[in-house]
Amino acid sequence: MESTVTTASSLPFSMTNGFSSTPPQPTSTEYDNNDLIESNESLTITESREWSIRASPRALATINPIRKIVETMNLTPNREKPFIPLSIGDPTLFGNFKPCDEIIDSMLTTVNSSKYNGYQPASGHEDARKAVAEYCSSYGMDIAAKDIVLSSGCSHALDMAMAILASPGCNMLVPRPGFPLYKTLSALMDVQIKYYNLIPERNWQIDIDDLESKIDEHTTAIIYNNPSNPCGSVFPENHIRQVLNVAERHHIPIIADEIYENIVFPGHEFHAIASLTDDVPVLHCSGTTKKFLIPGWRLGWIAINDKKDRFGLNIRTGLNSLAQRIIGPNSLIQGAIGRILTKTPKSFFDEIIANVHRNADRAFNRLRTMKGLTPIQPAGAFYIMVHIEMKYFPAFHNDLHLVETLVAEESVFCLPGACFEYPGYVRLVLAIDYDMLEEAMDRIELFTNRYFTDDQTTNVSNELDIEMN
Ligand SMILES: *Cc1c(COP(=O)(O)O)cnc(C)c1O
Repeated sequence: MESTVTTASSLPFSMTNGFSSTPPQPTSTEYDNNDLIESNESLTITESREWSIRASPRALATINPIRKIVETMNLTPNREKPFIPLSIGDPTLFGNFKPCDEIIDSMLTTVNSSKYNGYQPASGHEDARKAVAEYCSSYGMDIAAKDIVLSSGCSHALDMAMAILASPGCNMLVPRPGFPLYKTLSALMDVQIKYYNLIPERNWQIDIDDLESKIDEHTTAIIYNNPSNPCGSVFPENHIRQVLNVAERHHIPIIADEIYENIVFPGHEFHAIASLTDDVPVLHCSGTTKKFLIPGWRLGWIAINDKKDRFGLNIRTGLNSLAQRIIGPNSLIQGAIGRILTKTPKSFFDEIIANVHRNADRAFNRLRTMKGLTPIQPAGAFYIMVHIEMKYFPAFHNDLHLVETLVAEESVFCLPGACFEYPGYVRLVLAIDYDMLEEAMDRIELFTNRYFTDDQTTNVSNELDIEMN
């Protein structure tokens, strides 16, 4: 069979790259005159030099603080004791938190249908976006399919939400302690990260004065996370209104990381920040990762909440353009999502919450009796933060050293607060097996008893505990 070789330059320009503007005119050196290449000076230079492939500086500056810190630590567990990692925020790790049959069946049906093997629209299949819009509406957002951009996990949603609001010289405000991904993502963008404080004594509510003091004319977004990783806190409605008040007065949109929506313990309530405002535009970022226990399936979304049309067409168009970079999340989860969101029984979530809540209470009640430790009681998500009063542990130069020794002697690993810009604390994951948690608590207690050194007569740590509750 005869094949016709069509060179790119012989095709109409619009067919090769989709743009209708005038094509750049190829010069003869670039395309057809081989003789000229020899005399091209810059080509001679490239021929005579050595290989020198350079990584992009921005790629090299893209650092995940967790990896960076953990890799510098000496983590060698005690061989006599089985390793208990209370460090990894993947609830599926131990096998006791797993998706229910309805979730699995939704995916199997999609695979078997063979209807979702092809490319989907970059912002997501229309039916999938409609299903997500309905789901978001159940949290009080006023959202339709056109307001949804699907993504490869919530991380990708955050990436696009930040990228669309980043421009040279701008800054974004990020919680401290906070999820390190925001900082990691910022490295590839024209944006400076500024931290606003959360207050442990107020169950990690935002220090509103500090938040407001960090705003300047170049601030283009407030990144907000509720329920919180690493804190396990859940903001009450009046506090969320305080945040909205600041955003509204200064005209700053909010990027809301609400991936733990509704993972809240009895007595607490989740409020989507977008559901409490008509005025402040909000890019709500979430996904199926944590609530549905399928982190590896990679489905996330942005819901564009903008009742007063403050984002304008550019933000919407821009988000759709950004979605074209990787052409949406995988097609199978897009096919399954409608059923996953509607068929997963409430009992599935109730059970997850009941288990995490039980672990949270147990961990809190045990840790609070341990010398030199002050846990902050969580209200949701999968984590508890514990303050370590280093002055009572003079054997260690810092908290990283303490965590290393805990691994070496007790084979229990929890992430040092430095991973969340918050030294002096550790984060423990609660989405694990109850007995394993209990065993970890026994060992942490042995450890604190071994190293606690009190040269005062009163127990300051217990006094703090009482103040805090
Ligand atoms: C896990 C997590 C994410 C990322 O979720 P993926 O869907 O896995 O990308 C985002 N934000 C917070 C606070 C998280 O804990």
